Formats: sequence, C-alpha cells, structure tokens
Amino acid sequence: MIQAKGFAALSPKTPIQPFAFERREPKDHDVVFDIKFCGICHSDIHQARDEWGGSIFPMVPGHEITGVVTKIGAKVKNFKVGDPVGVGCLIDSCRHCAHCEKDLEQYCLEGPTYTYNAYERDKSAIAQGGYSNVMVCDENYVLSIPKTLPLDKAAPLLCAGITLYSPLMHWKAGPGKKVAIMGLGGLGHMGVKIARALGADVTVLSHSEGKREDALKLGAHNFVCTKDEAVFKKYANSFDLIINTVSADIPMAPYFGLIKLDGAMVTVGIPEKPVMVHPFSLIGMRRSYAGSGIGSVKETQEMLDFCAKHGITSDIEVIAPKQINEAFERVTKSDVRYRFVIDMAQL
Ligand code: NAP
Ligand code: ZN
Repeated sequence: MIQAKGFAALSPKTPIQPFAFERREPKDHDVVFDIKFCGICHSDIHQARDEWGGSIFPMVPGHEITGVVTKIGAKVKNFKVGDPVGVGCLIDSCRHCAHCEKDLEQYCLEGPTYTYNAYERDKSAIAQGGYSNVMVCDENYVLSIPKTLPLDKAAPLLCAGITLYSPLMHWKAGPGKKVAIMGLGGLGHMGVKIARALGADVTVLSHSEGKREDALKLGAHNFVCTKDEAVFKKYANSFDLIINTVSADIPMAPYFGLIKLDGAMVTVGIPEKPVMVHPFSLIGMRRSYAGSGIGSVKETQEMLDFCAKHGITSDIEVIAPKQINEAFERVTKSDVRYRFVIDMAQL
C-alpha cells in the first residue's frame, strides 16, 4: 500500500483535520501522481457537512486535483512519469452501459464512482479525494493538463470549469445568445470566462454588489445586482439561457421570469432544500427548467484544451492546508475571489 497523508472530515460537525491513510499499489492501468494543488469546491463543504445526506466518513474531500506523474502501471498507454495530470469528480464508472459507451459516464446507469464520499468500484475501500499528497487512479479517468496551463490555476477547471462548459455547450451558448450566469463564485466565474470565449452575450446575476467590477473584468458584458427587486421587471424575458450556480436556498420564482420564450434555466448549484417551481412560471413562455452534472472525461479533456487555446484559467487564492477550515467559512459567506486552491507542498 502507498502511505498517504492529507486532511479529512471525520464527522459533519468536526473541523477538517490532518489524516493519514493508505492508497492501493498501482494496478496495470493505474497512474500514480504527486498532488500539487487541489481546489476547494462548494460541493466539498456540502458533503463534509453532510448537507445532502448519506456522507461517508472519514472523508478526504477534493475533486479539483492536479499534479505530476511519478509511477505508471504496466499497461498504461497515455501517460508517462513527469506528465502534468489531473483528476476531477470521477474515478470510475461501469464502462459498459449505454451512457458510458457514449462518453457520458457522469450519467452512468449503474452510477459513476465519485472521487470521494464514495466507495471504490470494487468496494475495497473508501475513495479519498485530493486534499492529500498522492493519488492513484485508472488512466481512463485521468486528464492531461496542457503544458501552458499552470497547475494551481488549472485545478478548478476539473470541476468548476467542466460543470459550466458542459451545459454551455449542450444548450449552445454562442454568438447571438444572451446567457446569464447566476452566482459569481467558483463555478460562476468560470462560466463567465467560458461563455464569453464562446461568443455569447454574458450577464452576471449576483446578490453581491461588490462583485460588479470583477464581473466586467472577467468578461461579462453586464452585471445585475439581484438585491434590487426592480431588476426582475427590467430584465423580464431577457435571457436564452440562465446557468444557476447558487449554492444557497433562495426563492427561485422571480428568476424564472427572466427567461425568454423557449429559453432555459439550467441548475448546476445544489442547495440543501428542494426548489419550489410554480408551473405558470414555465408555461407562459414555454420555458425549460433543467439540470446538468459535471461532464465526462472526454468532454473535460476537450474543455482543458479549449481553455488552453483561449488562455482561460481560474482566478485563485492559494492557501496552506491548515487554512482549509477558514476557507470553508469564507466560501459559505460568498467571500472568495474566486476559488481557494490548496498548495499541497505545504502539507
Ligand atoms: P461558491 O463559490 O460558493 O459560489 C456560489 C455562489 O452562489 C456565491 O458566490 C454567490 O454568488 C451565490 N450565493 C451564495 N449564497 C447566496 C444567497 N444566499 N443568495 C444568493 N446567491 C447566493 O460555490 P461553487 O463552488 O461555485 O458551487 C456552487 C454550487 O454548485 C454548489 O451548490 C455546488 O455544490 C454545486 N456544484 C454542482 C456541480 C454539478 O455537477 N452540478 C458541480 C460542482 C458544484 P454572488 O455573490 O455572485 O451572488
Ligand atoms: Zn466540485
């Protein structure tokens, strides 16, 4: 076994703390890499605090992982020692269902294996995430990080980046489309950059007036502060596509009114409680309310290459592992510009 060290939640109510554990010796198709950086996604907080229910402890969170390959299994084809690599939210799936065969393994019909807060596919151990120093993963779920992307600023692409890229592509954001990004946090700021690079007209819908200047610098054409109720009238029937990244339970009714005829709101944010939707708020303008989950490994690689081509990375604040609990508090207060990334060299 490989001795690993990291930071874990031992229960929903205790702070994240230092934790020693083991990872498997590499099998034929495994890649072993030294973790250099790991982003802090709001999903890490939801799960460490068991806000979605069913969390598995001890839990080493982290699914925005970048590092450098140190060892490969005998049959690994696509990676060699020294390569810059990453792992996102998935480490396995059934590989034979209709969705896996179509490169949609994030929607595996038997359930994908998530990077943490899950059991390994063979049930041998609890899968542990990237708040640690070393990772072992089957090469089919490992991403190649383009050489022009720095490993710290690239880490958030592996969840925040793909979670916005996938619905923006699926709902065809591009020239002539009015796209709104709801919530300017880790996911939202990637959405602004990617939607802008795709050629869409981009508006940020934010409850934080203080983020106006940043939104425009990140590439938004317009910033709308939703604390002013009058904006819901002013921007009624305005957007072809709203991507909702909000992590908190907020009343959604006013936001549906912002969607144009035949437009859609796609939720990627996962607050604790169910959302109330009155049918009238959709029926009147033939609106859709949809959801989207991360993206496949293939699409994540496509997104990384797209980001390299357009010079897109995440705006980050690098922290030491001992600052994780403080970072969790700041994320829950929407006080992050725009992703905390843990420097594992300081572990
Ligand atoms: P984040 O950095 O905390 O950003 C969330 C943003 O939501 C905040 O920056 C804030 O933006 C807005 N917000 C927070 N509280 C609010 C409130 N009370 N009222 C209105 N707006 C509020 O979180 P994240 O890492 O981007 O993740 C966002 C959500 O997506 C989380 O629920 C996460 O679990 C989920 N997620 C889903 C997927 C998926 O596959 N679907 C993948 C990753 C994450 P403003 O200050 O601009 O309003
Ligand atoms: Zn995430």
